[in-house]
Amino acid sequence: MEEAKQLFKKLKIYSLLDLALIIPTSYNDTTLSTSLELGKVQTLEAKVVESSIFNGKLRITFNLTQSGRRLSSTFFRVTPYHHKLFEVGSSHIIQGKLEEYKGYLQMVQPKSIKQIGKVTPKYKTVLKESEVSSLMEVYITEQNLYNEGLDSKEVATLMYIHFPKSIEEIYENGKFKSDFTKVLKFVEAFNHIKKLRGKRVDFPALRALDGSITSFIENLPFTLTQEQQSVIAQIQRDLAKEDKAAKRMVVGDVGSGKTMVILASVMMALPYKSILMAPTSLLALQLYEEACKHLPHSVNVALVMQGKDKGDYSEADFIIGTHALLYKEDLPQASLVMVDEQHRFGTKQRASLEALVSQDEKKPHFIQFSATPIPRTQAMMQSELLDVSLITTTPFEREVLTQAISKTDFPNLLQHIKEEIEQKHQVLIIYPLVEESSEVPYQSLEESRGFWESKFDNLYVTHGKDKQKEEVLLEFREKGDILLATTVVEVGISLPRLTLIVIVGAERLGLATLHQLRGRVGRNGLKSWCYLYSNATENFRLEQFTKTTNGFDIAKLDLKFRDSGDILDGTIQSGQRFKWLDLAEDEEIVSYAKVRVRSTPVI
Ligand code: ADP
Ligand code: MG
Repeated sequence: MEEAKQLFKKLKIYSLLDLALIIPTSYNDTTLSTSLELGKVQTLEAKVVESSIFNGKLRITFNLTQSGRRLSSTFFRVTPYHHKLFEVGSSHIIQGKLEEYKGYLQMVQPKSIKQIGKVTPKYKTVLKESEVSSLMEVYITEQNLYNEGLDSKEVATLMYIHFPKSIEEIYENGKFKSDFTKVLKFVEAFNHIKKLRGKRVDFPALRALDGSITSFIENLPFTLTQEQQSVIAQIQRDLAKEDKAAKRMVVGDVGSGKTMVILASVMMALPYKSILMAPTSLLALQLYEEACKHLPHSVNVALVMQGKDKGDYSEADFIIGTHALLYKEDLPQASLVMVDEQHRFGTKQRASLEALVSQDEKKPHFIQFSATPIPRTQAMMQSELLDVSLITTTPFEREVLTQAISKTDFPNLLQHIKEEIEQKHQVLIIYPLVEESSEVPYQSLEESRGFWESKFDNLYVTHGKDKQKEEVLLEFREKGDILLATTVVEVGISLPRLTLIVIVGAERLGLATLHQLRGRVGRNGLKSWCYLYSNATENFRLEQFTKTTNGFDIAKLDLKFRDSGDILDGTIQSGQRFKWLDLAEDEEIVSYAKVRVRSTPVI
């Protein structure tokens, strides 16, 4: 038992199904071959008729029992054992790749097989083959698989795969049969969801919240979209519970109107307090302004930022702040805690905000907002851990024309940039690096700076390590024409006059990042352009990207291209990698696996 535990640890597996999902990479089949197939591994009955040494190599001639044909074999690594084994007159079952040379059958270094008719799985792991096989023998039993909640077909499939009787039973054209693959996809999803479900922990809420949102909604200058409304309704149901604090993540593209969901939630929490944490002071300020604009004046809003608070947070109904919130020791207790653009915070920061305002066993309702769309299947899985709502549409269609361009288009690009600036619009140029590097076949921000400065006035420059980043962005928003930056501007700040973005070396970036960057332009409905500048002559991935505008579709595309060998950056949700399951395609399987997990008793 203890030994098995050690082996499990080495394999980095934690459940019986993890073990069952270690699938043989191939099988060793010692079933006698019925015909002679060239180029394939064959198992044949043979008798030694001649043995000789040639250039230090052992050459054996066999007579094949079934066909009566001759076959010659060469052994390169010869030991006395080989001489003894292949004595003239001895009979064997030989196995090896059958080939033909000038009409003579050949088999290089064949093995002499002791037992025929046996199919042995080959596992590629960090363990010895014998160790894996013995784990399989002990743990992969029908009984154990049924206990995990699998049905008879799934159990049978896994038993076939690990303990096959014949290769035909499992393979079709050298691959697993298609219904086997389907079962493996299912088992993978089922196992993953089961583990997640085990991890969810719920706490009682500080209190149930049911403040009215009617007047707030009636006073908005627009009607909420269907999806905004349904997410708000979900949150209403969450907050009305006292025995269970809400734990929800609202995922929606940039511009999908998440702020209105935040404000509606603040209304529900009244007369109790809400806190919202945002990743940058710019964003916090923007949220503060929107809250003041849309919430009834009777709602007291305060802003907490390093060194520059607005309003008195000890009195406020709604406190908005940056991570500076985490350092306030006298933060009042809130019944609702929210985090905007949660993907930009570390897990620790999010947890410490929640902890800061929790009281003993009871917790505030907790809602996070993310602008990184994830595939629906992934959302379905994640919703085992916390509830997930998706906002997949935006209130108004944004007109952003995306185009892949290269060097020859540069004069046209310059012309276009001039035209936009003449119309008091702004332009953003994204460089892959701040300084020159031999690794990247594009100019860096510093190398190009001089060129742009010679052509344009009101030019601003910033990058990730720039301490003045926020100030530069704020000043650019008011006075700038053109901004040179690295991917850092991937922040939620809105630059309403920005209508043209150029991404240099676009093929180097993940689609999620490209999409975030593209989301910077056209925020106020102005017609906008996103140019993907690339030296790569043809890039299918970028072509697909130019045709796709919805973030959720991009997330799906990203999954498809993940193994395409493009250089991807770290912003893609790393998530779990699956061997059989395809998160872009297998929505049905995931949803079925969820149902099955729910109906599986916990043993
Ligand atoms: P997100 O935070 O999801 O990126 P915002 O909440 O900032 O998006 O909304 C983007 C813009 O759309 C804002 O100017 C907001 O006032 C506006 N907006 C939000 N909901 C609607 C709606 N239902 N109809 C029209 N405009 C809306
Ligand atoms: Mg937002």
